[in-house]
Amino acid sequence: MTNNRENETTHGAPLLEVRDAVKVYGGGFLSAGRRVTALRDVSLTLSGKPPRITAVAGESGSGKSTLAGAVLGFVWLDQGRVLFRGRDVATMSRGERFEYRRAVQAVFQDPYAVFNPFYHTDHIFHLVMRRFRIAANRRDARARIVEALDKVGLRSDDVLGKHPHQLSGGQRQRVMIARACLMAPRLIVADEPVSMVDASLRSLILDIMQRLRDEDGISFLYITHDLSTAYQISDDIHIFYQGALVESGPVDEVLGNPRHPYTQLLIESIPAPDPDRRWEVKAAPAVEETGAGDADAACPFQPRCPKRMEQCKYRRPASTTLEGTHHIACHLFGADKNKQD
Ligand code: SF4
Repeated sequence: MTNNRENETTHGAPLLEVRDAVKVYGGGFLSAGRRVTALRDVSLTLSGKPPRITAVAGESGSGKSTLAGAVLGFVWLDQGRVLFRGRDVATMSRGERFEYRRAVQAVFQDPYAVFNPFYHTDHIFHLVMRRFRIAANRRDARARIVEALDKVGLRSDDVLGKHPHQLSGGQRQRVMIARACLMAPRLIVADEPVSMVDASLRSLILDIMQRLRDEDGISFLYITHDLSTAYQISDDIHIFYQGALVESGPVDEVLGNPRHPYTQLLIESIPAPDPDRRWEVKAAPAVEETGAGDADAACPFQPRCPKRMEQCKYRRPASTTLEGTHHIACHLFGADKNKQD
């Protein structure tokens, strides 16, 4: 019965949808500190057909890791929904959730934190294989592990039977990607996967992501604060600022012809995207701070925006579609552009 319902609801649905996601930290009865809005009505879609690498880029505190946590089920949204193949993750049946956990895998910034230092690396493979009942027997398990390691350019002799501290940082990160591959996922949420490795390993891991997209049909949600790597490997990009999705679209359009004042400031900070050079999203350059307005209702970027208008202090801009797939949330565009308040 569940399968019939699943087939009905998921037919033709995108791989992943985030709809009107809101997440607020603090400010409640038990945490009376400062209230921080990590996600403000965020919506995005990954069709999965064809598989694409979708970057989510923003500075620290922009909400990008909260978004990753919501997709992976670590963060509970205050409002909004996450849908996988048309099914709301929050109301999935046990069987659907099991399938979701197999199909959506994670790769994190610090692979060392994921390993148990007392076990050989083999342990993390066997753990997931048992949990998801992947292999028929020991020989099958071994063959699948070797195949997964091969996908990430590792020889089994170099990593199996070893403790995590005997591997390099790049090997540990590739082991984590191989572990994800064992589950034949449809989506990998990669949260800053190359921010702790050096330049040569960075290229290697980014190349692996592209090959997994092209050869294995795996989509990626690539969380990063580095626009160079986003430009290098992504098909699409979403730019976040203080919990708001401010600009999104094909990476060439958004970074080649940025429209939002925040994205423009980021692009102006470097003459041309260069994969060999770090191009990190840092705090936007300050302009004269206004301090005025309603922080929740205003455009989040208005205190720093060189193009702000009076209405920007009191009205949050809605998303407007420019050319087909290029979206922007700014009063300079769309129906709001001529309102002067
Ligand atoms: Fe700047 Fe106003 Fe656009 Fe916000 S809405 S980015 S403040 S012009």
